[in-house]
Amino acid sequence: MTVAISTMLQLRGLAAGYDERWAIEGVDLDVPAGRLVGVIGPNGSGKSTLLRAIIGLVPRRAGSVALDGGAVDLRRVAYVPQREAVDWSFPISAEQVVMMGRFPRIGPLLGPGTGDRRTVRDALKRVGMEELAQRQIGELSGGQQQRVFLARALVQEASLLLLDEPMTGVDRGTEETITQLMRELRDAGATVIYATHDLESAADVSDLLCFVNGRVVAFGAPDDTFTPNTLHATFGGELMIMTAGDHSHVHGGGHHGAHSHADER
Ligand code: ADP
Ligand code: MG
Repeated sequence: MTVAISTMLQLRGLAAGYDERWAIEGVDLDVPAGRLVGVIGPNGSGKSTLLRAIIGLVPRRAGSVALDGGAVDLRRVAYVPQREAVDWSFPISAEQVVMMGRFPRIGPLLGPGTGDRRTVRDALKRVGMEELAQRQIGELSGGQQQRVFLARALVQEASLLLLDEPMTGVDRGTEETITQLMRELRDAGATVIYATHDLESAADVSDLLCFVNGRVVAFGAPDDTFTPNTLHATFGGELMIMTAGDHSHVHGGGHHGAHSHADER
């Protein structure tokens, strides 16, 4: 019996970059609907560029991006940037950040309605942030900020979620919350693509892995792609195998060689 697999996101010959240099090129990907996809690669390999090129935040130099066979409708895509890419001094509360996820649904003349407020409150609760709803976003810890951004993605009710290193610099509890939420969203039919440099957890959590190093080195189920050849082609000499306690950790190098579950702040 054959099962029809519907491609949700289709990339063809995609190249993107800054100035004359291309950070990624020749990217062909067919991402089915309702999958959890981990994008893995070392620092500077183009993970962020790939996610941002999908929604046009980085100029596309060549190729195409199609969402369900058509142009990318940004209302259907929730994007959570890498923490370093956010201006945390912006004076806005956690609740207001989450409400921004409702803006595409709120008309230009109408403020948020009771339904929007309830949705925002529910999402904050779901990520364990209801108590801190009125707190300024810049005053929250890294893990709390990531939870707030996740809540914003939730209220958007998007069918495609792009999360850039959501687990980096967060505490263990937040990492578990994020993993759980990504799974729930996937189970509800959304496609979730997240960038990470933590190979071990990506292979554990993801339905599909996308190994990136300026191009797509491999894309497929963890069992099929998590091979010495793929790892070498992706990480080369940067690959480090570290043994911590009784856990063997495999990590992509760069500045994030040491693995830490401690909160940054
Ligand atoms: P990753 O997310 O995997 O660490 P990036 O997509 O951020 O990789 O970066 C890919 C390449 O593009 C790197 O060589 C990086 O230096 C370069 N790059 C990233 N952002 C910019 C930018 N805003 N301007 C110029 N070059 C950039
Ligand atoms: Mg990045």
